[in-house]
Amino acid sequence: MRSIRWNTPSPPPSKQSSSNRNCNECHKKPQQVQCLHCSQPVCVECAQKHVNSAMNESESIVHLLNEKLDVLDRIAINTRQRIIAERDKIVQKADAERDRSFKLLAEMVEKEKQKLRDKNKELSELPLNERPTFIQSIKSDVQHLTDKDNTLFNISSKMPQIALTETASNSRNKFVPLFYSEEDYE
Ligand SMILES: [Zn+2]
Ligand SMILES: [Zn+2]
Repeated sequence: MRSIRWNTPSPPPSKQSSSNRNCNECHKKPQQVQCLHCSQPVCVECAQKHVNSAMNESESIVHLLNEKLDVLDRIAINTRQRIIAERDKIVQKADAERDRSFKLLAEMVEKEKQKLRDKNKELSELPLNERPTFIQSIKSDVQHLTDKDNTLFNISSKMPQIALTETASNSRNKFVPLFYSEEDYE
């Protein structure tokens, strides 16, 4: 049995005995103390019952909070897995982008090669007296193609990001009454 220091009853004992009122809880024994839990005038047995049940509720809520700590740990593990899955999706997309770029590059290079082949063909079909001028124009057309100057193709990419946010945390954390009075609906 827990040791409890009782509050003095709200009505003075003299007044209580004169009115001879019974416990608000069991309605059988006379009022003896003011309950620490609900402040009602009750008998000692009912006061002890009230305090015990309040203590039990506190213990069970502590148990619930500890369980929720474990739930948060499991949510963290699960969310890490989902972050890894997002990362895998990014890697798959990056590989697909590499393959797409390779294909596009091959097409662009082939187009540039075809231009050079066309010039070669054009030159071979020119009469000799027209060739020197054409050769000059070819030289100026191809001078940008060097091994050192690697700027024929520009390459850039956007850095992918994994967005992690809390879902509507503000509204969830607000106290929501379990029961609404009729006034709340008016
Ligand atoms: Zn009682
Ligand atoms: Zn009580």
